[in-house]
Amino acid sequence: MKRRDFIRGAAAGAVAAGTGLATAPAQAARKIKWKMVTTWPKNFPGLGTGANYLAELIEEMSGGRIQVKVFGATELVPAFEVFDAVSRGTAQLGHGAAYYWKGKSEAAQFFTAVPFGLTAQEMNAWLYHGGGMDLWKEVYAPFGLVPAAAGNTGVQMGGWFNKEINSVADLEGLKMRIPGLGGEVLSRAGGTPVSLPGGEIFPSLQSGAIDATEWVGPYNDLAFGLYKAAKYYYYPGWHEPGSTMECMINKEALEALDPDLQSVVKNACRVANQDMLADFTARNNAALETLVTEHKVELRRFPDDVLSKLKTLSDEVMAEVAAKDPLNQKIFDSFRKFRDQSVEWSRLAEQAYLNARNG
Ligand code: CA
Repeated sequence: MKRRDFIRGAAAGAVAAGTGLATAPAQAARKIKWKMVTTWPKNFPGLGTGANYLAELIEEMSGGRIQVKVFGATELVPAFEVFDAVSRGTAQLGHGAAYYWKGKSEAAQFFTAVPFGLTAQEMNAWLYHGGGMDLWKEVYAPFGLVPAAAGNTGVQMGGWFNKEINSVADLEGLKMRIPGLGGEVLSRAGGTPVSLPGGEIFPSLQSGAIDATEWVGPYNDLAFGLYKAAKYYYYPGWHEPGSTMECMINKEALEALDPDLQSVVKNACRVANQDMLADFTARNNAALETLVTEHKVELRRFPDDVLSKLKTLSDEVMAEVAAKDPLNQKIFDSFRKFRDQSVEWSRLAEQAYLNARNG
């Protein structure tokens, strides 16, 4: 009996050891082919090229062990079906913005942009070192998804309008493409928010289906030719002060990878996150000049009383969204605490410095 047990045990051990030894070379030799679906038109400057860059990074950092094929919006699935496609495993990766998925979870909106919320620098600080990332993971876990920050546009522009906005009354009845929490705020101000994927914005504005739109900033808005369909270009982008783009990862697919490859995927997102912000910052400068000098775009700043009203309405919307659900409240409390601290510090840091430099 003892001898038989010993033999059986040894045989089991040998099988286990054999499996262990066999796995690593097998995965190393086998090319893992992943798909990335995106909410952006294929190769769209900044956002689409940012998704391409992330795919290239994963391939390069994995030494070619993971290959990622990128699909633009509608190539494999429509823009607003990216979340479901990655959740059910049709694709392993999805590049988009979390606020598109408010129909799945209202809390998702906190991870793209909050009106009068955090700047890009502060968003990264909250996500990576202020508890934000763990909260985002909690929101996506029921869908079998792992989120990662994978890009940031910096402060956006307020948007394109065909009439001047001189008072809060001018927002009444305005049908504007503006997604996420900013859209909720516009609706409190009497407007009608519309959520459209990027590719549908220009035709909608040109045909008059919408009266106004926001998109991103000079670099991206120039690429869509929005100046051909609206006269006034408003700032600042109160509704999106530093929008985080996301890469959602199918959890099962991620966990099936060897630990080093899991680290490659997560860290490639981190590099892409930083790189997109640099790309936007560099190119917005040049694109603004083109819009103003070449295309004669009229820049306008939202009046102070309009901004002040929108800020009050934003606080109301945030509090209401938070109160709907314990998880929303937990995220909002974390976000608000971080924002309050950021306000204090940024007064002495970025704000004081920029006032001194630009004043
Ligand atoms: Ca936007």
